[in-house]
Amino acid sequence: MLDRRVGAGSDRLKSAPMTSSETRLHSGEGMVEFEMVGNLALSLSLWLCFSLSLCLCLALSQCFLNAVVQCLSHTRGLRDYCLVKAYRQEMCSREEPHLMEAFSQVLLSLWDVNEENHNTKVNPGKFYSIFKDAVPYFSGYSQQDAQEFLRFLLDRLHCEINRRPYVRLTSLEPEPKCKIQPLVLNINASAMWKRHLERDDSKIVDLFTGQLRSSLHCSVCSHYSTCFDVFCDLSLPVPKRSATGGGSLRECLDLFTQEEKLDEENAPMCERCNRRTESTKRLTIQRFPQVIVMHLNRFAMSRYMVCRSTVCVSFPLTSLDMGPYGPVDCGPVLYDLYAVCNHSGTVNMGHYTACCLENDGSGWCCYNDSCVTPISENQLQSAQAYVLFYQRRK
Ligand SMILES: [Zn+2]
Repeated sequence: MLDRRVGAGSDRLKSAPMTSSETRLHSGEGMVEFEMVGNLALSLSLWLCFSLSLCLCLALSQCFLNAVVQCLSHTRGLRDYCLVKAYRQEMCSREEPHLMEAFSQVLLSLWDVNEENHNTKVNPGKFYSIFKDAVPYFSGYSQQDAQEFLRFLLDRLHCEINRRPYVRLTSLEPEPKCKIQPLVLNINASAMWKRHLERDDSKIVDLFTGQLRSSLHCSVCSHYSTCFDVFCDLSLPVPKRSATGGGSLRECLDLFTQEEKLDEENAPMCERCNRRTESTKRLTIQRFPQVIVMHLNRFAMSRYMVCRSTVCVSFPLTSLDMGPYGPVDCGPVLYDLYAVCNHSGTVNMGHYTACCLENDGSGWCCYNDSCVTPISENQLQSAQAYVLFYQRRK
């Protein structure tokens, strides 16, 4: 297995003996370093992210990238797939997968086994510039959102390495109608999933894609309808501050899956009434992905501005049971946490870091642009936790 070591019994990271199949990050003096800020001095990068100066926006707009890349590079299934470049055998398109190649190159450099490269730093500049060409939305110098970046990145990578040919959707295909019997629902969900895989099938889908079920109930005629959508992450509402000052991931999931009242303006058409009617909507998870990415939506629109919630949301590190949010009687569906993307600061001026669980049992490390430091499990729980990465237990 690919691996990297952290010195035991010490707060310093150091190198450890490796076998030929092992790899690790480059060890510097007292810390593992990888440069994510181009030619800017590494020690400046943290400070830059808090700086208001306009000419220093390069680092400001890149810490989101560093944090997301670290979380993805600790997603074992994806990392191993990239390192052996398995997409080259699988992909359908004959076009060069430029972004996938550049992304894999960043991972290869992070997990480099060559002794002589240990003091070199990884610069994702090429990867980022290819990404910006593919997604021009990210070309500006404004503060970018890590979760948005993750969505765009996974989508672009998927498009390049899709095992199916690209099919242009000319018109909205009619959705199969559902009856409310659970058996028919499950058959329908499977049929929809199969349809999805006929067009979109890649390692990204294998790992990150799940299926959401949305149930609508018309308050006028009591008609039920159900539709299924795929998702690559769940964006969860963060509860209001409680008496104890904090909330839990379970509360966020409860809010996400609770019945929501839709007024006439916001409700979809009722098939039976043939008009928009007051209805209720409920989301549940129909198909669980191998990796479930959960975004704690800390940014809420108030009347005049976007506000950032500072509620500390606690979350389990192991044995998160998602079963209660799945189909009836699906039993426990257990997940373990392996990475957290943190956001600190305000709406306009923020900084991203990543906390990742190392594969060799040495515990958690915090990746702050160019610095890596070991951290304890209880340091993970903070009001900064922003995107949680959980791996389904086999
Ligand atoms: Zn109706």
